[in-house]
Amino acid sequence: GPTKEEVLETRKQFLNPALFHYYEKPVMIVEGKQQYLYDETGRRYLDAFGGIVTVSVGHSHPKLVKAVNDQNELIQHTTTIYLNDQVAYFGKELAAKLPPHLDCIYFVNSGSEANDLAILMARLFTGNYDVVALRNCYHGMSLGTMGLTAHATWKYPVAHGFGIHHALNPDPYRGRFGNDGEAYAADVKDLLETGTSGRVAAFFAESIQGVGGAVVLADDYLKHTYKHIRDHGGVCIADEVQAGFGRTGTHYWGFETQGVLPDIVTMAKGIGNGLPLAAVATTKEIAATLQRRIHFNTYGGNPVSAAAGRAVLEIIDEEGMQENCKVLGDHLLGRFADLEAKHDIIGHCRGKGLMLGMELVKDRDTKEPAVAETKKVFEDMKDMGVLIGKGGLYGNVFRIKPPMCWTKEDADFMCDALDVALSRL
Ligand code: PMP
Repeated sequence: GPTKEEVLETRKQFLNPALFHYYEKPVMIVEGKQQYLYDETGRRYLDAFGGIVTVSVGHSHPKLVKAVNDQNELIQHTTTIYLNDQVAYFGKELAAKLPPHLDCIYFVNSGSEANDLAILMARLFTGNYDVVALRNCYHGMSLGTMGLTAHATWKYPVAHGFGIHHALNPDPYRGRFGNDGEAYAADVKDLLETGTSGRVAAFFAESIQGVGGAVVLADDYLKHTYKHIRDHGGVCIADEVQAGFGRTGTHYWGFETQGVLPDIVTMAKGIGNGLPLAAVATTKEIAATLQRRIHFNTYGGNPVSAAAGRAVLEIIDEEGMQENCKVLGDHLLGRFADLEAKHDIIGHCRGKGLMLGMELVKDRDTKEPAVAETKKVFEDMKDMGVLIGKGGLYGNVFRIKPPMCWTKEDADFMCDALDVALSRL
């Protein structure tokens, strides 16, 4: 194949420069097997980020490869204007994983599309326009969801979106009310009563903020907020693009960790293990608002992607991956606590299951983000053979969200490397 330099040069010449490289010296990946990635020289890396929380069951899982290959040979594309078994049965199997009232699925191709469609359905269903989301949330990069996403890094001054309001982020570490979910929910109530018409279409939240740096929403926040939203005529939308499919360990869906039942659930990323696949699950009543019109999506529920999605659901259960997330998450949080005791630069460790964050600060009292240090450790980790994620509003949070097939040895290998990299600061 072409050399790394040739690929780099070609990318530079023909692809939009808005596409950025994660590392100072770009890493090229040519192969993936389970939790490992290989570059063009054959060097192996431990994957702690899963292609941005997307490779849920591991790279090129044999069962998934077979399902995709078989479907690929049979028929690649039909659109939903013809009947095909894959998309219908995938809908059935996915609905079986959701609370019983969410038994109507619309398949699309990306998280942004799923959230766009969720806004549309919520507005049609309620007849209301205003949408409330959280500061520090990430819901996509389409023109619609860009207005929803509230994260300075991703904000364009020309794409704000009408009728979208951002509530205080219920961030237990940096938020105004600490871990008091009810107090943040009261802010939503105030927003509804003073900053909107008093009628709202929808409320969006990730139960653990992904791009925002694995922020676990304050206790009971969703329970109280859902009530305020419903009191004002709105529906509640759970964005499970990152936190779903067993990743939190204790529950299959992130919203379950807050004990709430949403009216709409959006999914993407891990649902297809990297194939373009996303979904919106609603009640039949909410879905009916679309039925009176025509809503169309050319690739949504493509048979190859659907075959991948069905395999993902099976593999997670067959291989006990949710339980694995629970065991490894607890182990990792224990090791993180040891690291926190040893390295003053660690300000906060958080998360659930294999959706974890570690935030670096210059000073534990002022919580001033240690941005340069985060970058240095991040690069050092790569040199030691571990590809971790990075994020948070200030770019000072490590995001640890590996494929769910990680082992205890992988977890320890990463923690040992973190210890070394942090000691070098
Ligand atoms: N919601 C969440 C929680 C996400 O993390 C993302 C992607 N980072 C999206 C939505 C948008 O997904 P996509 O990039 O597939 O449009």
